[in-house]
Amino acid sequence: MKIAIIAHDGKKPEMVSFLNKNKDKLKEISLVATGTTGKYVENTGLNVEKLLSGPIGGDAQIAALSAEKKLEMVLFFRDPLGKHPHEPDVQMLMRICDVHNIPIATNPATAQLLIDAFWSKQME
Ligand code: PGA
Repeated sequence: MKIAIIAHDGKKPEMVSFLNKNKDKLKEISLVATGTTGKYVENTGLNVEKLLSGPIGGDAQIAALSAEKKLEMVLFFRDPLGKHPHEPDVQMLMRICDVHNIPIATNPATAQLLIDAFWSKQME
């Protein structure tokens, strides 16, 4: 069971505060992240597998893991106000998650609901 984490540059601070807030829950879970996001995840003290940086294929790698059903969920803190050279990959990732019914949160509020729901399911 694995959770993928991605944050666009404008959303990395929010992602870090989300990780710190949920550290006790997340430290029990395998994490995978795009390259630069992964460095921020490591700085919070959590273990994470780092893939390529988003713009050079990291989002595509996470899409591939989703298609192979190797992910429980994707937490993708998107910056809706930024321009991204890899926008086609972003769209592709969201589409693949929908194709394979993988939960994907695109903002911190939804990510919190997903993590809480997932955690209570684990505790049942
Ligand atoms: P990054 O990629 O973690 O390497 O910054 C995130 C993204 O922009 O998709």
